[in-house]
Formats: sequence, C-alpha cells, structure tokens
Amino acid sequence: MSANTRVEPLLPRFASIESIIERLKPVEPVYVLHPGRFQAAAKRFLDNFPGDTLYAVKANPAPLVLDQVWAAGIRHFDTASLPEIELIRGRFAEAHCHFMAPVRSVGVAKAAFERFGVTDYVVDCDFELDKLLSEVKSPKKLRIFVRIATPLGGALIELSSKFGATQEEGARLLKRVAESGAAPALTFHVGSQCLSPFSYAQAVEMARRTTQMAGVEIAAMDLGGGFPGPYPGNDVPPYHWYFDTIKEALATFGPSHPPVLCEPGRALIAEGVSLVTQVILRKGDNLFLNDGVYGSFDELTLPGWTAHYRHRVHSLDARNRVLTLDGKEKPFRVFGPTCDTLDVLPYPLTLPENIQAGDFIVFEDMGAYSVAIRTAFNGFYPDNWAVVGN
Ligand SMILES: *Cc1c(COP(=O)(O)O)cnc(C)c1O
Repeated sequence: MSANTRVEPLLPRFASIESIIERLKPVEPVYVLHPGRFQAAAKRFLDNFPGDTLYAVKANPAPLVLDQVWAAGIRHFDTASLPEIELIRGRFAEAHCHFMAPVRSVGVAKAAFERFGVTDYVVDCDFELDKLLSEVKSPKKLRIFVRIATPLGGALIELSSKFGATQEEGARLLKRVAESGAAPALTFHVGSQCLSPFSYAQAVEMARRTTQMAGVEIAAMDLGGGFPGPYPGNDVPPYHWYFDTIKEALATFGPSHPPVLCEPGRALIAEGVSLVTQVILRKGDNLFLNDGVYGSFDELTLPGWTAHYRHRVHSLDARNRVLTLDGKEKPFRVFGPTCDTLDVLPYPLTLPENIQAGDFIVFEDMGAYSVAIRTAFNGFYPDNWAVVGN
C-alpha cells in the first residue's frame, strides 16, 4: 500500500454527518471517519514528542482506522500479538512493529522475530526474559524493554497491577538484559486516560532511578500510552502540558537523555471517529438504541470510568430535512438492542424531551476502545463505515 492511500475507494464519502442521515437514514450504527481529525491528533505527537510515536493497535485495529493513522504519518506500531503484527505488516509493508506486551505464549517471539523481523520486546520478569532469550538466538539484534510499575497517579484505568516490575526488580532485569548482549531499555504505562501530566514526570523519574540502580546505560525509554481523549466529564489538561512536562523530566537525565518512544492508542484515534445511532423505541423515559454496551459502548462500563461521549440528536422532518433537536432536556435510560438486561448505558443520557423512535443520536470522539471491543452478541455487530470531509 502506498503512503498516500487514504481510505478504501468504495467507502462512501459525505459532506457532513447531517447528509449521511438525510441520504442513508441509517437503521444500523455508522462509524464516521474524519481524516482531518486523525491528522491533527497525529501531528500533535509528531510535532511535539521528542522521539518516535507508536500507535497502540489494540485501541482500534479496524483497517479503515489504521489507514487513517498511516495517512496521518504514523509509521511505528505497538503490536501485542502475532495477529496484530500480521495485520499491520500485511497492510503497510514498511511499517515498524514493536512487540510491547510483557507476556507471550511459547513460540510467539520466535515467530515475530523470524517471520517479521521484530526486534523490540518487553519483559517484566525472569520467566519471560528466559523464554525470549531461548527463542531468539541472536540477542545482539534485540532491544529488550524492562517494564516497571508506576503509581496510579492521574489515570482512570490503571495498567500497573497486572504488569510491571518494582524498581529493584527492574534494575536487576536491566542488568540481565545487558549481560545477554541485547540492548537494555525501559518502559512503563502510567494508565489509560491519564489526566495528570505529572504522572509522566513521576514515571520518568522512577525509570531514571532504576537505570542508576542498575548501573546500565539504557538504549531507549518508552513512555507508554495513556494520553487522554477530550471527553466531557473529565478535566483534560491542554496537550502541551504533557509534552512540556515530559521534556522537563527528560532534562533530569543531564545534557542528553536516552532516545524515547511513546505508544498512544486513544490519543491518536479517539477524535477521528463519530458514531451515528438510531433510537429504535421509546417507552416513557426509556430509550432503545441500535447500539449498546456489547457494541460500541463497552468502555463506559469500566469501574472508575467517569468520561462521557459528547452527543447530539438529529431528527428528519416531514420533508426529509435534518433538524437538530435542541429543546428542553431531561435524563433518559438508554438500552442497547440485545435481549440482555445488562445492555444499558451505566448512566442516564440527558436528551431533548421530545426525542422519539426514528431520531438519531450522534456520539463524538468514539474511536478508542469501541470498535476494538464490540461483539456480535445476539447478532448485533456494528460495522458500517462512512467518511466525512478530507
Ligand atoms: C493499551 C496500551 C497502550 C495504549 O494505551 P492508551 O491509554 O490507549 O494510550 C500502550 N501501550 C501498552 C503496552 C498498552 O497495553
């Protein structure tokens, strides 16, 4: 695939979401891609992060989304499984894949190295380091990142109780990596939807101390993902605070810091996707939508999750013109389409009082952990796509 391929040619392109509603009157959910928003999100990192930016594929592996990320200039990918590597390399032959998951089934590292030439791996314990070194016989070709745990800090979803060595353990593993002949490196993940730039400074400091303890010069430091999406309900600091804080923290390494990487998922794709849903049924203050928590809304059900999606309601008038419903509002319970009682949004949505069956609810910033986690439970599998703008 060439670098300037944007989207598959057959994907319907529209001037606006309103025209999608007017022309398609979609009775199934539609994911709407906004190329300009993908470009703006990538540019933030490409212009301001002082190292390579990897896209964490798990946040949204839909090929149409990957094409947008690629078109926006991202060339490095955090791939955590063989299928993810196959997906990326099958689509973009020149892509750089980095295997940034700290646990791998037997034979997976060997296949990633031999079949795809992947040379970056993460470990957080002796067992995984031993396995990696036994499967890849040329350690000098490898860069092995030791993942350390970081405090919860400002993230809504912590990612350091499942993975991550203590600083002492990390230092010991770093020494082992160096002794093996591989290039030693460090990584961490401050947690997803991290609302505090300071969490990165704290983690960089932990990484610096771990390096000192090990007495090893590290070949790279990967600052993970966690950069937030702009959801209402969260106090999201301006993005430059993250980059400024990270640069200040890196300055503590002295005149030069190790080469750095980051691996955002959410921050590269959240804003690029809107979702058009339709109200199927209204029963009093209960609404039934054609999408729910088994489809695009799984992330809302996470414990501790406080973010919402921006939304608005459109209606078609008798002459088939799109109106925006913006009258008096009240809270509604919103159910998904499946037969399961649990298929309900975990908080009421505030919507115009006169909303009715047939109306459309458009949700914004839906790119992250929606498409990626949808299921086909009960036969409902949202998979219609359109593009708005260039
Ligand atoms: C999920 C994950 C990411 C992406 O996290 P975001 O919060 O979406 O930025 C990056 N790195 C690793 C190792 C992950 O598991």
